[in-house]
This record gives sequence, C-alpha cells and structure tokens, in this order.
Amino acid sequence: MKEADWKDARAPPRSLEHIAVTMPGPKRKLEDRKLRVLGIESSCDETAAAVVEDGRRILSNLIASQASLHAKYGGVFPEVASRRHVEVIDRVVVAALEQAHLSFEDLDAVAVTRGPGLAGSLVIGLNLAKGIALASGLPLLGINHLEAHIYSLFLLEETHPVQFPVLCLIVSGGHTELILMRDHGDYRRLGATLDDAAGEAFDKVARLLGLTYPGGPAIEQAARSGRAEAFRLPRAMLEGTWDFSFSGLKTAMLRLVQRLQPEIREGKPLNTAHLPLPDLAAAFQAAVIEVLVRKASLAAREFQATQLFVAGGVSANQSLRTAMEQAAPCPVRTPPAELCTDNAAMVAAAGCYRALARQGDALDIDVLPDWALGVTEGGGIRQP
Ligand code: ADP
Ligand code: MG
Repeated sequence: MKEADWKDARAPPRSLEHIAVTMPGPKRKLEDRKLRVLGIESSCDETAAAVVEDGRRILSNLIASQASLHAKYGGVFPEVASRRHVEVIDRVVVAALEQAHLSFEDLDAVAVTRGPGLAGSLVIGLNLAKGIALASGLPLLGINHLEAHIYSLFLLEETHPVQFPVLCLIVSGGHTELILMRDHGDYRRLGATLDDAAGEAFDKVARLLGLTYPGGPAIEQAARSGRAEAFRLPRAMLEGTWDFSFSGLKTAMLRLVQRLQPEIREGKPLNTAHLPLPDLAAAFQAAVIEVLVRKASLAAREFQATQLFVAGGVSANQSLRTAMEQAAPCPVRTPPAELCTDNAAMVAAAGCYRALARQGDALDIDVLPDWALGVTEGGGIRQP
C-alpha cells in the first residue's frame, strides 16, 4: 500500500468553545447536565480511568491498584509501577467508558494527570490521553495531581455552592500541603512538608512496626485498641510558618522501638509479638493528627476560609476527620473513602472546570514530575 493511499483516521479536532459557560446551579436539573470529561490517572501506583459529568456526577470510576504488587517492597517501586500501567491502562479506560455507556464521541475532553508524580508512570497516562485526543479530536487537559485531589471535594453535593476562599490540606503518600484556593484555578501555597509527607510517615512507621503496606490503614486499625498517651512523642509545630516536618517523629519512633527491643540494633528481626503495637500506633497517629489539625485550623481562621477541604489518602483516617471537625472554625469536607486515594474521577472533575475555563493543552506537552500547585508569595508565608 502506497503512502498516498493511507487513510487519515483522525477525527477533526474539537474545541472547547461550544461548552456552556455556566456550571450546574440551582436552576439546572441534574438531567440537563451535559459536559462529560474522561479522566486518566497514572501518577503513582494506581491506574485509573473515570467519566464525570459536569464536574459533579460520576458516571464511572475504575481503579486498578498495584498496592499488592508493591507490598513486598514496603513502598512503590517506580519501574514496576510503570510496567504495570502499560499492561492495564488501555483496558481500564475502555472499561470506564463501557461502564458509563459512552464512546469517545459522547465526551467533551480528556483530562490526564500531568504531574507531580513518578515520571515513568505519568508518561504512560499522558501518552494514552494524547493518543485518544489525537484519534478522537477531543481537547487534551493536563491536570495537576494536587489540584485533582482538591476537586475530589467538588464531587460532593454538600460542598456546593462553593464560596471562596477555601483552605485545602492535601495529605497523601507524596504530599502534605496547605493551599489557599481563592477561585477555580487560583491557588496560593501556604506551606508544605520539609521532609516526609504525612502518608509516607505512616508507611515508614508501619514498616518499622512490621505492619503491612500501605501503612495508613494498618496503623489506623492497630491504633483502635491503643492508648495514645502511652508514649510521649514530639510534635514539630514549626511555629511561625505553615510548613510541616515528620522526619523527627519518624526517628523518635525508631528510637522508641529500639529502646523496647534493643536486640534489633544488632540486626535481629523485630519480634512484633513482644511489642505494644496498638499503643505505639495510637501514639504515632495522635502526634501526626495533632500537628495537621492545629496548623490547618489556624490557617482556616487566619485566611477566613469558608470551608476546609482535607484530601489525599491520609484524609481517609477517621481519627483525623473527627479531630479536624472538632477544631476547625468552618465546615470540614472530606471525600468518601474511595475518592481519598488516587482515582481518576477527581482528575475528570478538575478537567471539567478547566474545560469551562477553556484551558486546553497542546498535544506536545510533557509530564511535570515536580509540578507545584500554587504560587508561594513573598518567599514563604509567615504565620502572624
Ligand atoms: P499519593 O497520591 O501520594 O500516591 P494517595 O493519595 O494515593 O497518595 O494516598 C496514599 C497514602 O495514604 C499512603 O501513604 C497511605 O498510607 C495513606 N493512607 C491511606 N489510608 C489511610 C488511613 N486510613 N490513615 C492514614 N493514612 C492513610
Ligand atoms: Mg497512591
């Protein structure tokens, strides 16, 4: 077959211009909502695809988690993660469309996590999204993963109508960030962790205690029957800043375990049967939660936030939710468990708002593994 006979199978590019400017409000009924975005997420160890209508209504939301694959390493193994993404991502996307009873022609845009995350994982999702955009003519929307976590809260009915500013605490395996959201797409980064992320601290301490990966749920479970006051642990408040630090707490846990079982210093295996696991888990969890709650509620008060959004994997923690609700000066919103950890519905939701703002991306965009969300004004915001 000669090149001249090749068929250009691309659909003509569709623009974002036809999209109605208004989002669903009180005057529009759910049935009238029309803007449909396919979301794709592959920034870490979840391969996910979802279809969301008008930024609110989840038509499908599939997650192929690799957690069991990485469990034996006690954390995500980047090379293994990207290989698994390649194996499953096209099937996950097709299944998400099938579940929504839609085809590419029924969609308005394809949104994909562009960063931050593991470069080798991000590239799998972005390349697939580019392929879909090219073949179907759909506009491409490169989404910030942290922004997507924030938009997991926009999927909740009780969050609306949203009045800004909203204070966002993103607590996940890779991030601990306090962000002031002043409008859609307008973020001010108040502070972040200087070392370990909150979820990372949960994972590392769980490994230290011989608990399963991911560590957050394992520690929460163990802590249920423990006494938080059994051990005194440090709380790094970093007064005068909105930043966090969890590495000191992690070291304190290591010292504590070494004190309880000195033989592990000589390389002997940990004897978990002789450790007060529930008390250790409860004391650690309480130390993390106290810092998160104090800083987030202080910031919510300082910046007169109308709502406090807590998102990311650690927001699944029930003790954190309860403590935050008690301390915060405004309503606290947390996603349902299935939307706390990485998923594509939140990517699609963020994409809906980007589509409305007509912020499509060119097909030659690259992944941004270190993409920060929001500007840090004045070289770091100081607490009063
Ligand atoms: P990332 O986007 O950085 O991969 P996720 O949003 O997927 O992170 O969240 C995963 C993190 O959330 C892990 O570090 C895990 O330990 C933590 N996590 C999950 N559930 C809980 C829980 N119930 N309590 C505390 N941490 C949790
Ligand atoms: Mg994850």
